Amino acid sequence: MKYYFLTLFPDIFHTYFQSGMMSRGVEKGLIDYEVLNIRDFSEDKHHQVDDAPFGGGAGMVMTAPPIVNALKSIDNYESLPVIYLTPSGKSFEQEDSTILAEKSGIIFICGHYEGIDQRVIDLYVTNEFSVGDYVLTGGELPALTMADCIARHLPDFLGNSKSLEEESFESNLLEYPHYTRPREFEGSLVPEVLLSGNHKAIEAWRLTKAKEKTKNNRPDLFENHEKSLHKK
Ligand code: SAM
Repeated sequence: MKYYFLTLFPDIFHTYFQSGMMSRGVEKGLIDYEVLNIRDFSEDKHHQVDDAPFGGGAGMVMTAPPIVNALKSIDNYESLPVIYLTPSGKSFEQEDSTILAEKSGIIFICGHYEGIDQRVIDLYVTNEFSVGDYVLTGGELPALTMADCIARHLPDFLGNSKSLEEESFESNLLEYPHYTRPREFEGSLVPEVLLSGNHKAIEAWRLTKAKEKTKNNRPDLFENHEKSLHKK
């Protein structure tokens, strides 16, 4: 999987890919990434990348030519998903990450200011994704969020692929709580069942806890879980 990030702030990406699981993914040759500084593709003598919006209004808009020049510098850009990160995109969900993990590469366009010229979206973008119903200053964190989540679905990226199966959002349930040593912390004990060695009882307890948590924190998800049970 090769990620391409089109951005005005290239430095943000390197630290992330040099840390933790992502750096291991790079070392194992499972992921590769390239950061393209949109400013380098500006044909303007001052390397300008934004301009005032037609029709007036607050803020600046990122102009189309430097973004498209950067995009076209990628050899096989036409065969790859071109994703624009935007609060007005489709909500990015776990299921999207499994689909995108099948691709050989993904191009992310990170916006700033009021966003990018609509014609880039109309002519080149294949998917618009939002990482949540809130507005950030730029698309870099959303792009990294997606890249991280997608990488976890690549074969051999996670040491234990069972972790994926049991994680939040599988079967529309949030994950059960975890405990580790010490057995007692500030007077609070690890639930007895987890120390019992009875795998069936542990599984049942975890399912109950996952349901309780989902019902409390995400009633919308819980409703989907219940519906999917009735379908079976
Ligand atoms: N004017 C835009 C609006 O109201 O939808 C917000 C622009 S935001 C200040 C600047 C950039 O941050 C966007 O172009 C986008 O790339 C990124 N961004 C901000 N919030 C985001 C979110 N929730 N999901 C994905 N991208 C986001």
